[in-house]
Amino acid sequence: MARHGVHVRCHVSVRIALEEGIHVAHSPSLERVEYRLGTILTTLVESHPDRPARPRVVIVGAGFGGLAAARALRHVPVDVTLIDRHNYHLFQPLLYQVASGLLDPSEIAHPIRTVVRHARNVDVLLAEVTGIDVAPKRVLTTGAAVPFDFLVLATGSATNFFGIPHLEEHATGLKDLPETLALRARVLRAFEQATRCSDPAERRRLLTFAVAGAGPTGVEFAGALAELFRHVLPKDFPHLDFSEASVVLVEGTDRVLGTFAPRLGQSAARRLERKGVRLLLGRSVKDVDGSALILDDGERIDASMIVWTAGVTAAPVADLLGSPASRQGRVRVTPQLHLPERDDLFVIGDAAEMEDRGEVLPMLAPVAIQEGKHVAGVIRARLRGASEPPFRYFDKGTMATVGRGAAVAQIGPIRINGLIGWLIWVFVHLMYLVGFRSRVIVFFTWAWNYFFYDRPVRLIVGTSSDEPRIRREDV
Ligand SMILES: Cc1cc2nc3c(=O)[nH]c(=O)nc-3n(C[C@H](O)[C@H](O)[C@H](O)COP(=O)(O)OP(=O)(O)OC[C@H]3O[C@@H](n4cnc5c(N)ncnc54)[C@H](O)[C@@H]3O)c2cc1C
Repeated sequence: MARHGVHVRCHVSVRIALEEGIHVAHSPSLERVEYRLGTILTTLVESHPDRPARPRVVIVGAGFGGLAAARALRHVPVDVTLIDRHNYHLFQPLLYQVASGLLDPSEIAHPIRTVVRHARNVDVLLAEVTGIDVAPKRVLTTGAAVPFDFLVLATGSATNFFGIPHLEEHATGLKDLPETLALRARVLRAFEQATRCSDPAERRRLLTFAVAGAGPTGVEFAGALAELFRHVLPKDFPHLDFSEASVVLVEGTDRVLGTFAPRLGQSAARRLERKGVRLLLGRSVKDVDGSALILDDGERIDASMIVWTAGVTAAPVADLLGSPASRQGRVRVTPQLHLPERDDLFVIGDAAEMEDRGEVLPMLAPVAIQEGKHVAGVIRARLRGASEPPFRYFDKGTMATVGRGAAVAQIGPIRINGLIGWLIWVFVHLMYLVGFRSRVIVFFTWAWNYFFYDRPVRLIVGTSSDEPRIRREDV
C-alpha cells in the first residue's frame, strides 16, 4: 500500500508536469520514457479502488475535430468516450483519389482504435448517435445510453441536394467511403458496358460523366477523371474510341474555385480545359432524370453519372440538440465553442457556426482540428478554475489540385500555381495524413503516378445495385 502511495504521488507529479507542459528537454527518447512512466502510473492510479470518479467527456464523431479533441485530452484528468458510427477515421480530402482509382481506401481510412490507442483515458464506442438527453446528460445511441459531464459534438457535414428534383435519387455525393467505392465502380462499369454497346448515342451517354460544383472537390475530381480517361483507361480498353468519353463540370456561378483569388480560378479553368474537361459556368442543375441532367436553360446533358459536390450542410446536429441552425445547418457557438445557453455542450468543426474576427469560419479540416484542440484546452481550464480563452483560427491557407503535377495554393497574400503549388499540396497532405505507413505508401503512389500516369486500384467491388445512379436498365 505504501508503495502504491509512492506511485500515486509520483504519478501525480508526472501528470502535473505533463499538464503544465514542463518538458525538461524535448528529446524523443525522454518523451518516450516520460510517456511510458505516465502510462504505467496511470494504470496504477486507475486501478486504485479509492480513485474518485473523473469527469466524463463524450465526443461524438471521430473525424478531424473529434479526433484532435480526444488526442488533446490525453493528459487531462477526464475519462473520454469517443463515439462514431464507423470504426475508422476518414481523410476526406483524398476521397476523390480513391474514386479515381489512385489510392486504396486503407490509405485514407484508419481504425479509430489504432489512432487513439496511446491515449489510455480514451474509450471508443462504435454506435450511431440518435439523440441527446440534455437534462439527465445522456447521449442516446443505437446501443446503450452514454452519460456525460461534457459533450463535444463533432459530427461533420453531409451532402446538400437543395431539394432539386430527383437529384438525391440519381446523383451521388463524394462524402464517405461506400459512396466513393460505388462511384469508382460506376465509372469503370460504364466503360465495360460501353465495350458491348453498339448504339453510338448510348455509348456516348455511358461515357459522359457530369460533376456539379466547381469548388475544390469538383475541380479535383473532374481533373482526376479526365486524366484517367486520357492516360490510363485507353490502355485497358484499346478498342474503345476515347473521343466519345467526356467529363462535364457544371457550376452555378461564373467562376471555377470561387473561394480562391480570380487569377487562380482562371488558371485552374484553363488547365481543366486543356485536360479535356467541358466547363459549363453560370449554369445550374434544374432536374435529373433516369439518363440525363437538365440545366436551368433547358439544355439536356445525357450522362451515365452525376456527382454532386455543389453543396454541404452540417450533419443534423441541430436536430440532436433541439437548437436553431444556420442556413447551412450549423449550430452557433460562443468563442469558447459551447452553446450560448449551455457551457457543457460543445460543438466543433463543420457542425459549428463559429465567427472569428467577423467572419464565419469555413468547413475545412484545419478549422475542425484547431477547434478540437481548443475545446480540450477549455475543458482543462474549466477543471482548474482557470479562465477559458476564446478560439482564434490560424489560417494556414487553402489549396486544390488540378490533376497530376499542378495545384493552386493561397497562403495569406501569396498565390502559388502549377508544380510548386502541387509540391506544397503534396507536403501538406502527407503531413495531415494519419499513420507513417500511409504517408510512405501515398508518397510513393503519387511519385509513381507522376512519372507513369498509373491508377493501380481500378477495381469494381460490390454489385451494380450498390450504384443507384443515372443509368438505363436495358444497356
Ligand atoms: C470530398 C471532400 C474533400 C475535402 N477536401 C478538403 C480539403 O482539401 N481541405 C480541407 O481543409 N477540407 C476539405 N474537406 C472538408 C473537411 O473534410 C471537413 O471540413 C472536415 O472533415 C470536418 O471535420 P469534422 O471533424 O467537423 O467532421 P468529419 O471529419 O466529417 O467527421 C465527422 C464524424 O462524425 C461521425 N458522425 C456523424 N454523425 C454521427 C452520428 N449521428 N453518430 C455517430 N457518428 C457520427 C462521422 O462518421 C465522422 O466520422 C473536404 C471534404 C470532402 C467531403
